[in-house]
Amino acid sequence: MTDVAWESASQKLNTVLGKNNFATWIEPMDFRGVQNTVATFGVPTSFFGNYVRQNFGEAILDSLNGAGMPASRIAFRLMDDRTVASAPLNQDLPAKKTAGETGLQGAKLDARFTFENFVVGKPNELAHAAAKRVAEGRGVTFNPLFLYGGVGLGKTHLMHAIAWDLGQRQPDINVMYLSAEQFMYRFVQALRERKMMDFKELFRSVDVLMVDDVQFIAGKDSTQEEFFHTFNALVDQNKQIIISADRAPGEIKDLEDRIASRLQCGLVVDLHPTTYELRLGILQSKIEMYQESYPGIEIGRDVVEFLAHRISSNVRILEGALTRLFAFASLVDREITIDLTKDCLSDILRASDRKVTVEEIQRKVSDHYNIRLSDMLGPKRLRNFARPRQIAMYLCKQMTTRSLPEIGRRFGGRDHTTVMHGVRRIEDLKDKDHQIAEDIQMLRRALEG
Ligand code: ADP
Ligand code: MG
Repeated sequence: MTDVAWESASQKLNTVLGKNNFATWIEPMDFRGVQNTVATFGVPTSFFGNYVRQNFGEAILDSLNGAGMPASRIAFRLMDDRTVASAPLNQDLPAKKTAGETGLQGAKLDARFTFENFVVGKPNELAHAAAKRVAEGRGVTFNPLFLYGGVGLGKTHLMHAIAWDLGQRQPDINVMYLSAEQFMYRFVQALRERKMMDFKELFRSVDVLMVDDVQFIAGKDSTQEEFFHTFNALVDQNKQIIISADRAPGEIKDLEDRIASRLQCGLVVDLHPTTYELRLGILQSKIEMYQESYPGIEIGRDVVEFLAHRISSNVRILEGALTRLFAFASLVDREITIDLTKDCLSDILRASDRKVTVEEIQRKVSDHYNIRLSDMLGPKRLRNFARPRQIAMYLCKQMTTRSLPEIGRRFGGRDHTTVMHGVRRIEDLKDKDHQIAEDIQMLRRALEG
């Protein structure tokens, strides 16, 4: 239950402290639980902990108390100190090694994020294969490896898996994994403490550098600059670099062009949104893991299919749902049925109801009709483009909460009356044209996952 409560406390903190504070100071911490009203967090450095205590201590305690975890004090531990037990679900997990033992520096690696625990399916097979190749560490084939995709699709998992594998195969090489936020934080700290030489030396001495969520440094000029120099210095020495981001290098807003183009020099692979089959596979594998922690709790095939069908946004949410379900079932000591699931996960299910985005719809529709996305969004009036465009508009109106003007804007800046006309046209045709009705049904099903 700890994870669930922390999740709700985090949400509160996000609102109270603002997105930026939250992303810089709260998210990087590793919540270890509350015991005897002492809440413990893993932090990258002691400075980090002190800063958080001074600035956000009260807010953190408030949020924990609000989430039903009475806490009166905060304690910090350094992240590579793995002696503090984390959530119960982490017991008996494959990798027992600590970051220290494998010669790794930077942020802590999650013991669960290994290749063995990564379920491969169509949407992630390329990224997985590329990660595997890099993990073999036989010479630098692509540099950098750039992994991108939406949140919760496995980028961090794959990066940690590479680090674990490399650490095992070549214990004496220096692998550094850290988030772009942590890179910035270290950089700022080095500036403040006048330790830039140490900073540069540290980063230039690694054999493999992994920077997660690099989109974070976009728009932060001096951090970008320093990142660029670090990057170049390592590439020059033929050291492997692995980067992740939430989108392709060229699409990261406020990222300097020269950095974007350097990032594209290696191999760029994306993780696609999960499919129903992949979600089933992931659920199956997580359930086996959870059943070790919660022996005796059974979860029926129908419930698994229900979850895979209904929670299609991302794997993290899928996992969160499963964790809560198991925790709940073990507390109330009841069999996990669809009804119990609906009850226990009502908020998650509600939130994933409206998950389809305009972009997804546009992509699906243009794929379905085998036309280029740019043609569908562009000015061409040919029936071949206009009909799919109207169908996409119709689906956007039906499946998202976007208004007509908003939809118009996303269809190449069209007027809302054009969208309205398109939507009406399809509503009309749908009743007369069997093929169109069928297409819409198919697209809708595909988009709902
Ligand atoms: P990202 O970094 O892309 O936002 P993460 O790597 O943190 O996503 O993944 C979110 C959660 O989902 C993690 O707990 C991760 O283990 C899990 N996950 C994602 N993809 C898979 C997969 N293919 N197999 C197993 N677990 C996965
Ligand atoms: Mg991540």
